[in-house]
Amino acid sequence: MNNQGIRIGFDLDGVICDISVTTLRMIDQVDEEKKLMLEKWYYKERVPLLNPNLIMANDDEAFVITARPSYLATITKQWMRKYYPGIPVIILGCKSAPKSDLRCWWKSIIDEKVKAIKKLRIDLYIDDSPEIVKELRRRGINCLQYGGLLQ
Ligand SMILES: [Mg+2]
Repeated sequence: MNNQGIRIGFDLDGVICDISVTTLRMIDQVDEEKKLMLEKWYYKERVPLLNPNLIMANDDEAFVITARPSYLATITKQWMRKYYPGIPVIILGCKSAPKSDLRCWWKSIIDEKVKAIKKLRIDLYIDDSPEIVKELRRRGINCLQYGGLLQ
């Protein structure tokens, strides 16, 4: 039988789970040691937003692709197992946003996403960032914007 399914990639923060830019900005202000603790708390407490299972047809496959840094891998995997068991999460392990040279950092995040999307042969990718959607489309990737109200 022909597999008619497509491979759908989902961004995590702002798509699969909610995002609080205000809280993240506040966490950014504290010293390194407290920051790590607060970040772990923040990512553990995220609530589900878009349920991938609700937009997937029978043969479709879902992948969550996130740029989160590697030190959040365990928390991220636990969160996914809790809410969406069976959906693989790919953690790109990008650096956290630097204080300067944001453009360069942002470009590297997009490059890493594109690499993962191509490697996983994703047919459709969903992201909350209008800028990422625009750039991925420019690079020939089928992309949908979901959420993004806080951008
Ligand atoms: Mg996002």
